[in-house]
Amino acid sequence: MAKFTDPTGNGAIYLTQNYHGEKTTAVDTQCAIDIRMKKNEYFHSVCDGTVELTTTSSNGYISIIPTGMSARVLYVHTDRYLVKKGDSVKAGQKLGQIQDITGCHLHLGMKNKDNSKNPPQIMDYFDRSLNFKTDYADITKDWFVNGKLNWSLFKDLSYGAVESPEDPQITELKKQVADLNKSIDSYKASIISLQAQIDSLAKEKKDLTINVTSLKIEIDEGKKSLIELQGKYDSLYIEKNRLENEKNEAIAQLNSSNGLSGASTGELIAEIWKRILKLK
Ligand SMILES: [Zn+2]
Repeated sequence: MAKFTDPTGNGAIYLTQNYHGEKTTAVDTQCAIDIRMKKNEYFHSVCDGTVELTTTSSNGYISIIPTGMSARVLYVHTDRYLVKKGDSVKAGQKLGQIQDITGCHLHLGMKNKDNSKNPPQIMDYFDRSLNFKTDYADITKDWFVNGKLNWSLFKDLSYGAVESPEDPQITELKKQVADLNKSIDSYKASIISLQAQIDSLAKEKKDLTINVTSLKIEIDEGKKSLIELQGKYDSLYIEKNRLENEKNEAIAQLNSSNGLSGASTGELIAEIWKRILKLK
């Protein structure tokens, strides 16, 4: 941030009038101060900035836009400019010469670029090491204490946001932070993808659990059917044995009623012969 420098280049700034407004052809330069200067003396830019315009007349002026500020500084009663509209200027740079008028002075004021706003007060922007003086009693009364400008009457403001080159350590730290942010983003992506895998596995597990449950039910039903079939088989087997026994008993009964039960073929033939001989 920068402060306004000495517009005279003399090391002493003699005030001949405190804040007042004067009309120029373009803008109303409220809150201007008058500074004693000599005829044709060079005046200097109080700030870094850009030349907005130059005019030539008895109230000729040049206006400079301070870098980073939406206001203009006007140097009135000036001519023979060394710079032109659009030029960049540096604080302390010679801009032109003081007009040859009665009571030569530089009328130095400020004006907002937005005319609806109150003009900035130029004393608020000066470097406080500057040596302001005056020979005028009314200015001494209003602005000076013991011959010194009473800075406490003014705000202590800077103009513009002048970028200073960044500390290399800060640049390096910023880079590291950016790298860490990249890593964090990549970890976040991994976490999201892992979470998706976990979710899908959890769903699979749930499906499998449902399948296992339904298979268990099927197995239980199968076991029940098997037991029922075993029972049916057992009772059929018993029934089969009972019928077989009945059949064997019936055959045995039939054989014993013939009286030939258990005889061999030879015995049967012998018996038959015996009965035939008895018949004779
Ligand atoms: Zn003036």
